[in-house]
Amino acid sequence: MVRFLTEVPEDHPRYLSLKERHAIIDGMHQKIVAEAGLIAHGRGEAFDYILGEETPAYALIQEEAAVAILLLAEHPVISVNGNVAVLCPKELVQLAEKTSAKLEVNLFYRTKEREKNIESVLKDAGAKEVLGVHLGDRAKSIPEITHKRRIVDLNGIFLADVVFVPLEDGDRTMVLRKMGKKVISVDLNPMSRTSVWSNVTIVNHVRRATREMLDIADDLTKKSKEELITIIDKYDNNNLLQDSLRFMSDRLIKLAQKQLKEG
Ligand code: ATP
Ligand code: MG
Repeated sequence: MVRFLTEVPEDHPRYLSLKERHAIIDGMHQKIVAEAGLIAHGRGEAFDYILGEETPAYALIQEEAAVAILLLAEHPVISVNGNVAVLCPKELVQLAEKTSAKLEVNLFYRTKEREKNIESVLKDAGAKEVLGVHLGDRAKSIPEITHKRRIVDLNGIFLADVVFVPLEDGDRTMVLRKMGKKVISVDLNPMSRTSVWSNVTIVNHVRRATREMLDIADDLTKKSKEELITIIDKYDNNNLLQDSLRFMSDRLIKLAQKQLKEG
């Protein structure tokens, strides 16, 4: 488990955000998060500020479609990197259980040490099986990607029909799509290549998104296969991405008007 080393005063006005930031820093010192993960987190924080650090209504529609696709998948896999291992390990383990998905450690900056550390975090959070570690003969390469970012597990992402990649890089999203897989991503930036190229993009903070997906999974497991198919058929990712951009621009306009009145 990540050891939280930094004390954050509970009365700080931005307590939650600060606590999370320090968790990511602690995760880096404990070789769970990559250094670049800190920068990625900072970009996410900036977009979350625009959302008001709350889940907007459009995100619940994205999350519902994501869970429906996971439930209908034959071989769903949840890809876990250092940032999400720190931010929401329990949520990911529970989501994997509820949707019968496998968990795979999949790293942009892969080292044996980070692989094993993330495996331990997931096991501490209740995971029984973690793919993507101790790969040996199960190591497979996804095409067009150079260096260690290409390595996936034969029994995991390589075989998967649906891959849930909370926080992914654009070119890998594209390659997974080209391999015929459905890609679900979480990205607070609706303009990133990941967002644009995913089948379902959840434009929300990954911790809120995965928590909400657990409740949604409880609801959707009661539904028939046909009802799940209807949810997916009605879903249009491009429209929802436009909704997320409109939501952000409306919020900025409202904030500007408020400032004008107060200023
Ligand atoms: P792309 O490769 O898809 O074009 P990018 O290179 O601009 O995107 P990356 O560094 O690959 O961005 O990925 C980081 C992304 O993750 C950023 O867009 C950031 O907004 C998002 N992000 C970071 N932290 C969170 C979080 N906690 N929840 C959701 N999204 C996050
Ligand atoms: Mg990128």
